[in-house]
Amino acid sequence: MGRYRVTLIPGDGIGPEVTQVVKRCIEALDVGIEWEVCQAGESALGKYGTPLPEETIASIKRTGICLKAPLTTPVGRGFRSINVTLRQTFSLYVCLRPFKIYPGVRTRFKNVDLVVIRENMEDLYAGIEFERGKEETGRLIDFIKETTGKEILPDSGISIKPISVTNSERIIRFAFEYAIKNKRRKVTAVHKANIMKYTDGLFLEVARNLSSEYSQIEFEEKIVDNMAMQLVQKPELYDVLVCPNLYGDILSDLCAGLVGGLGLSGGANIGEEVAIFEATHGSAPKYKGLNKVNPSAMVLAGILMLEYLGEGEAARRLEEALASVIKEGQKVTYDLKEPGDTTAAGTMEMGQAILARLKI
Ligand code: NAD
Repeated sequence: MGRYRVTLIPGDGIGPEVTQVVKRCIEALDVGIEWEVCQAGESALGKYGTPLPEETIASIKRTGICLKAPLTTPVGRGFRSINVTLRQTFSLYVCLRPFKIYPGVRTRFKNVDLVVIRENMEDLYAGIEFERGKEETGRLIDFIKETTGKEILPDSGISIKPISVTNSERIIRFAFEYAIKNKRRKVTAVHKANIMKYTDGLFLEVARNLSSEYSQIEFEEKIVDNMAMQLVQKPELYDVLVCPNLYGDILSDLCAGLVGGLGLSGGANIGEEVAIFEATHGSAPKYKGLNKVNPSAMVLAGILMLEYLGEGEAARRLEEALASVIKEGQKVTYDLKEPGDTTAAGTMEMGQAILARLKI
């Protein structure tokens, strides 16, 4: 019996290739993981008639931990993003994404080591929308006119942005606790409270109140547009960013750009009972089966999972092995080579190189 049971979803497109790399690396660390391999996404559709089979959900419920490769959202009527469904099914209210520059990566920046903690349940992503021209949209427009005196043009669509004390409190508390546990120095709350007083203003008020409970961590607040500029100008000044859903989504990709792209960023979606770790890029179907893409993001997802399990030493070893392969720059995939360089390694060769360093 292993010490941990983990649901492993090899996913679609390039998913199975990058999953094989991370699985082998984690097995070499000998932390005692038993995998429950499950299907989701397009690959599940043929066999189960649904992109998210009941037995996959049951496995995640049972293990509480899932390592998931990218999933293709089948295009067609009735299919929502499986990733969104998973987040909602398990109330994964935290989206955690670290961004660090590993020496050897091509990027315009030096010295970036940031963590974006994004609220995952509400804000404009709550999915509460009113379509242009619908009767209920008209009633909402009338209600707004009656109660606020504000005119909304009748040919408008409307999306609702709820932000609650409950969800703000738990994400901001998570950010402070994360900062303490991971020896971070500062938490920056990102908002646009000058314009949206009752939503972003509430988020900010909760952040200010909670910050007094965590006097060992520096606290600051930044308006989101200024934050975007500052991150590009002087990213080294920032540490942990805590954001409502929409700003977190946008700033995460901005930060991915600072550290060399989505191929080098892993993420975690965390709730009270379940945590799902994933590469943040998609399933890149055009590269499927070509042994070409970078397995680093999936390995970084595996590192986050090991940290979450309390296997800090194994996580550190795997990160060092990955960092050393990237730094050496020999056995790395095409995206880590200079344009025109024809010596790129395949996914499996880069995986072998990481594995070889774990076995030294
Ligand atoms: P994508 O991330 O799959 O690919 C975009 C491009 O990024 C690729 O063509 C490739 O050039 C590059 N790329 C991606 N991963 C790479 C890697 N590991 N190494 C090197 N290069 C890499 O985005 P897309 O084409 O917009 O989406 C394809 C499918 O993935 C869609 O069905 C989408 O719904 C799904 N998707 C899933 C997730 C997820 O499961 N978390 C996230 C995003 C997109």
